[in-house]
This record gives sequence, C-alpha cells and structure tokens, in this order.
Amino acid sequence: MKKIMPRVVFKKLSKLYQNMEDSYQIIAEQIGLSCADCPDNCCTSYFRHHTRVEWAYFIKGLNQVPESLRQKIAQRAENYVEKARQDLARGKTPDIMCPVNENGLCVLYEYRLMICRLHGVPTIHTRPDGKNLVFTGCFRSQQRTGEISSYSRLDRTIFYKELAMLEQAFVGSKIARLPRVNLTLAEMIVLGPPRFSV
Ligand code: SF4
Repeated sequence: MKKIMPRVVFKKLSKLYQNMEDSYQIIAEQIGLSCADCPDNCCTSYFRHHTRVEWAYFIKGLNQVPESLRQKIAQRAENYVEKARQDLARGKTPDIMCPVNENGLCVLYEYRLMICRLHGVPTIHTRPDGKNLVFTGCFRSQQRTGEISSYSRLDRTIFYKELAMLEQAFVGSKIARLPRVNLTLAEMIVLGPPRFSV
C-alpha cells in the first residue's frame, strides 16, 4: 500500500479511536459496566502493542506535555522496563503501574493505545483463519454479565482490520521487511519514535 502523510494517518487513527470508544460505551451501557470506584486499575495490566502507527501517535502526544512531566514519565518508563525484565526472568507476569498514569489517571488519555480503549467489556475477535477469540472482560464486567441472561460482545475484528490498514499506510512498502513490533508502552517510551530502517 502507498505510504500516506503521517498527519493524515494520525487523523484517521484518531477517528478510529473515537469509533472504538463509542462501541465500547454501547456495550458498557448494555451490561451496566462503570469504572467508577473500581478497586482495580487496568493500567497495571501487562499489555504489549504491535503497530508503529500507534507508537508514533503516542510519542507525538508525549512530546506535547510539559518537559518536567515528560522527564518524569521517561524515568518511570525506564524503571518499568527494568522491573518487568526482572519479573519475566522469574516467570512472573509484570503487574506494574503504567508510566503514563499519575494518581490513578492517564495523563495522555487522548493518545492512549487501542488496547487501553477496548479492555474491560466482553469482546470477540475473528482471526483471518476464521477462529473466534473471546475475551470475558474485566472482573467487574464478568460480575455484570453473570447477572444478566444475554448480552452483546464488542467485536474487535473491524478495529483490528482498520488499524492494520492504517499501519500499512503509515509504514508504506517497507512493512514486509521490518521486524514485528511487540513492545510495552514503557519500552516504546524508552526507545523514542519508531524507526523505519530494516
Ligand atoms: S496509556 Fe493511559 S490508559 Fe493506557 S495503561 Fe497507560 S495510563 Fe492506562
């Protein structure tokens, strides 16, 4: 696919993010799920991300925060990477607060990545081979769906497809030759913007 100017791709990504949020909200309202007063915080979940377009868009947002805050986030990201490395070496899944979270809240909410927007409600995803992957939702979501007889799941399939298309438009023809992205947000922050050299 032909490479498109980053500013145009970012605008489309922002619209896609909005569509994700709208769809999430519909399911959350159907099952009566709210994050208010939740004793858990999803921002300690060990998420890995897989696209350069989301990575670059997030770094664009990070570069807009005041320098003192950016430095704090960068330091926390380094600490996160080291702690996660130690946890993984011990066979433990990291359970560490995201470096972008301050006092329980995301300070880059507008730029947060796809998985931050879809985590919570029950979802389904149909893979290219036709296999369905089902996610039951967070613990509160499971409590809610356990109390009702039927409910819809948020279908992630179209969002994954659209994100893959934006990734192609962002990276261009080099996409097949570049290594796969498989990074935590902390690792993305430490590395800085994605590079396109093979
Ligand atoms: S980017 Fe924001 S919403 Fe996503 S895990 Fe980090 S603090 Fe939470």
